[in-house]
Amino acid sequence: MSIQAIILLGAPGAGKGTMAEAIRSATTFIHVSTGDMLREAIKAGTLVGREAEAFMRQGELVPDEIILKIVMERLERGAPDAQYMFDGFPRTLEQARLLDAEFARRGAKLINVFLLDVSREVSLERLGGRLICRRCDANFHVRNIPPKTAGVCDNCGGELSQRPDDSRATILKRLEVFQQQTAGLIAYYAKRGVLQRVDSSGPRAETVADIMKRLQ
Ligand code: AMP
Repeated sequence: MSIQAIILLGAPGAGKGTMAEAIRSATTFIHVSTGDMLREAIKAGTLVGREAEAFMRQGELVPDEIILKIVMERLERGAPDAQYMFDGFPRTLEQARLLDAEFARRGAKLINVFLLDVSREVSLERLGGRLICRRCDANFHVRNIPPKTAGVCDNCGGELSQRPDDSRATILKRLEVFQQQTAGLIAYYAKRGVLQRVDSSGPRAETVADIMKRLQ
């Protein structure tokens, strides 16, 4: 068996992280979120973290070389027959092409690319109200997934706060960056016959069920 992978593609706020968590807990897919890896690198104060931080704060993409380095390192550490679920990667055509080249080299197979489809309004509403636990990274939302006690994580009691790049101005920048640099991947993967469009604007459980059905 060789490596197999699925990709979760979608605008900021489309629910990639939420879907990834649900799929991870119900399958053997290993969740690889470049955003999470970068945030961990920032917390740990590594060179990658220091290089990435300013780009992330401004809602810009982190340069391809840095992203490809951390993804390739992750693949090196994994089993040769691992199943990966990429969340937020690839985000540029260059990243997609280099991932393809790496997969060809390893005889790995890209099974599906799920495009999580939401309107701009839904993205804005989700990101604008998102709250993250500083301690365990659990996700909440002021209206959609409110914590039992305001400002306190239900899971670990940690303090909830807004992600630094979830300010209104940075959200707008990230949506613009998605259109300019990532949306081209939709046609790229559609041409390859691996793209599956999923309506991600409804209740979480419905989108999860839709993806799980397609994965079988
Ligand atoms: P995310 O957690 O996926 O929303 O990513 C947060 C931020 O991390 C993005 O706005 C980018 O600055 C950076 N980032 C994450 N993944 C990538 C990627 N594949 N390519 C470039 N930048 C990325």
